[in-house]
Amino acid sequence: MKTNILNRIVEPEALQQSGDFLGLTLTYPKELTPFAYTLNNGTVVEVWDTGVLCLTPANPAGIDLVLSSGVHGNETAPIELCAAICQDLLLEKIQSRHRLLFLFGNPPAMNSAKRELVDNLNRLFSGHHSKGEGEPSWERQRAAALEQYVLRFFNEGGANRQRLLYDLHTAIRGSQFEKFAVYPFLHGKPWSKSQLQFLHACGVETFLLMQTPASTFSYFGAQSCGAHAFTLELGKVRPFGENDMSRFADCDLMLRALIVDALPALADFDESRFNFFVVSRAVNKQSEQFELCFARNIENFTQFPLGTVLARDGDIEYRVDEPGEAIIFPNADVALGQRAMLLVKPVSVAGQVSD
Ligand SMILES: [Zn+2]
Repeated sequence: MKTNILNRIVEPEALQQSGDFLGLTLTYPKELTPFAYTLNNGTVVEVWDTGVLCLTPANPAGIDLVLSSGVHGNETAPIELCAAICQDLLLEKIQSRHRLLFLFGNPPAMNSAKRELVDNLNRLFSGHHSKGEGEPSWERQRAAALEQYVLRFFNEGGANRQRLLYDLHTAIRGSQFEKFAVYPFLHGKPWSKSQLQFLHACGVETFLLMQTPASTFSYFGAQSCGAHAFTLELGKVRPFGENDMSRFADCDLMLRALIVDALPALADFDESRFNFFVVSRAVNKQSEQFELCFARNIENFTQFPLGTVLARDGDIEYRVDEPGEAIIFPNADVALGQRAMLLVKPVSVAGQVSD
């Protein structure tokens, strides 16, 4: 699979010729005048904004699916994966049976090969974009706009449809489990067995089950839109064109099967084929003396013996104090007050999943 990122197009009409929505997005990274047209197969193509593409088939089946990538601009593999699916849909190589909303989250950061320009976009949802002072950054404006686009998409579909939001990422570091999902807090509702089965077929066997509200896009999708929503970490960050797309083949295959409404029968739910974790502690950076006490290239979900010192923050020491406790998303370079690391522990979901 190749990306057409270098073949940038300059006229909206060219989208009909090339199907290169990513190219159009990166040519107009901050704004794009909306336009619409209809494919020969009856699908209505609507560009709502830069990086925002809504596809409505003539007779939509029952799923409204949001596929987002590039919320962190340098997480290229999911962007390439989504761009290729977009292109095949726009060139009518495949035809969606469901309503689709493709989002490329942070196009200016994608052009700069950076995670963000100013603010971490995935910490700004559920209204957090409006909490800062002064002139809002690009990311704050974008988070507010993306919320409105997602609400519009689901509202136009109506209430009686299955709502899905998959926010595709790659992690800064390697992981003991190459692919994993963050399952946002459901406020006590059971975890979805069919979603776990589907994502397992995508190659995601490890789930971090959140137990508190968050400012992430997936929590917004779950809480504010009533969608089955997930942050999917599909591998490690690499530059455009340097991804081994074979590592994403299962995910690509299953997303395409979902879109064209040809999902294979999924394996029965069997907890022993999954790894479930919950957050045992969130470690926030409190001083400029904050330091992590392990190798910089440590992998997510690495476990340490009881008592191991994981981090120091001035006079505070963080040690492993539960068996099986593992670290995830360590980052000493965050701003003061921000999360520098999560500690997680294995958990069972027995009695907490339902169809
Ligand atoms: Zn990310």
